[in-house]
Amino acid sequence: MHTTSPVSPREAVAALPAYSAGKPPKAAEGYTPYKLSSNENPWGPAPAAAQAVRDVTTLHRYPNPGAEQLRAALAEHLAVPFEDIVTGAGSLGALTQLISAFAGTGSDGQQDEVIYAWRSFEAYPIVVRTAGAQDVPVPVMDDGRHNLEAMTAAISDRTRVILLCTPNNPTGPALSHQEVTDFLATVPSHVVVVIDEAYLEFVRSDDPVDALALYREHPNVVVLRTFSKAHGLAGLRVGYAIGQPAVTEHLRKVAVPFAVSAVAEAAAIASLEHLDEVNQRVESIVQERERVVAALSQAGWAIPETQANFVWLPLGAGAVDFAQAAGAQALAVRPFDGEGVRVTIGEPEANDRFIELCRTYSGGPGVS
Ligand SMILES: *Cc1c(COP(=O)(O)O)cnc(C)c1O
Repeated sequence: MHTTSPVSPREAVAALPAYSAGKPPKAAEGYTPYKLSSNENPWGPAPAAAQAVRDVTTLHRYPNPGAEQLRAALAEHLAVPFEDIVTGAGSLGALTQLISAFAGTGSDGQQDEVIYAWRSFEAYPIVVRTAGAQDVPVPVMDDGRHNLEAMTAAISDRTRVILLCTPNNPTGPALSHQEVTDFLATVPSHVVVVIDEAYLEFVRSDDPVDALALYREHPNVVVLRTFSKAHGLAGLRVGYAIGQPAVTEHLRKVAVPFAVSAVAEAAAIASLEHLDEVNQRVESIVQERERVVAALSQAGWAIPETQANFVWLPLGAGAVDFAQAAGAQALAVRPFDGEGVRVTIGEPEANDRFIELCRTYSGGPGVS
């Protein structure tokens, strides 16, 4: 835009990158298009969740202000107190509440600091900087894992929040329970540690993080979860945070009222009541993931371990080129220029096409 406008946003906002969401696939002659760019569940929600949406008859009424019915269902399902759960418009909504409640610019004009691994979830810097806080990204290691030692070393007097993303989007590895336990021992107790478990249900590692146990032990631990991925309800925007009341009371204060719609609440409750169907979908995605990982490895690709519903191709400068090659076959994937490409595990046919592309693509990491 070249117009000069008399209005301007806050400095922090002017300097923000725009969130760039995964793109839909472009049509290509002879190919069924597939969207592998947003880590969505290709199988959709349990049928009962979709039915619950159709059954909502109170579209002219405001929803429950605090999503009380969903929180009651979650409290029972997870065996945690009702007061410890705060819902949001996606777990991103809950994270936004957490950051705006705990980090910003102090009355001395100094910015609070929020530490996170990088590359990680693209929304983190946006949420942190919008709140007026300073983000402190700590590079992930070559294998895509959090560098927890470096994250401890990054803690300063101004650190207010640390974000752990496990499994890490977009690189894939999960933290172990031991790693997180040891890490928490290095963090001052007034610093809030968020464990973002958006992909929890896909984890099949030996020592998975028991984040609920950690929040029960540590008043400064907050767990983030979502219905967007395993439950296949990304379009409805519903997620939640779990923390002790000394945390959640503040999250509730900064919440956008009625952020979880009546439709989203009904679908999420129905999904919890049909977990066996959700788990079947998750299991089929995990099986497909194992198939894709094995095929890539056989084709000579060296990629980080993934515990999520996507794989990371550390292509560096070749990221955009690979995404274009995928796009030419109507596969939308997610390139991060100069770093790599994240590819969601999708329908078997989509995964087949992706595998074949990797087999024939010259210049993959570790490919000789
Ligand atoms: C997808 C994702 C979320 C959740 O997004 P919502 O749809 O807002 O619940 C949160 N964290 C990470 C790391 C994600 O990849």
